[in-house]
Amino acid sequence: MQITKIYEWDMWHRIPNHTSQCSNIHGHRYKIEITLEWDIIDNKWASNEWMIIDFWDIKKITKEFIDSKLDHGYMWYKWDVVLDLIKKENFKYIEVDFIPTAENIAVWIFNELSPKFQNIYWKNLKLHKIKLYETPNNFVSYEWQ
Ligand SMILES: [Zn+2]
Repeated sequence: MQITKIYEWDMWHRIPNHTSQCSNIHGHRYKIEITLEWDIIDNKWASNEWMIIDFWDIKKITKEFIDSKLDHGYMWYKWDVVLDLIKKENFKYIEVDFIPTAENIAVWIFNELSPKFQNIYWKNLKLHKIKLYETPNNFVSYEWQ
């Protein structure tokens, strides 16, 4: 069975080699759908009885990662004209080793979050899929391989 939680945050970035608008510094209201897969817990009288995972636990793990690391930050890759200013002003930034397209961000978040979910309850709980919306009409999906 699968369970999905939605989470949103704000982040800015640019796609350095893009020939159109996306090379400009701009922000998105990112939205993520996190889908986990496992059996329903039949641990009688446990607080998560008859759940796959408590929605609250999905939110806690996701929030800890996204709010501290990504929310209101600037995601950048290698050399960037604005980086000196960002560092000088002490603005929040996320240094990554990939061009911050929705595709790359989705894979990266998947790999970051996956072990955090595996360490909760029992080991069989699996992060199954991530759907990352860059805009309300554009999203990418990445699934457990
Ligand atoms: Zn963008």
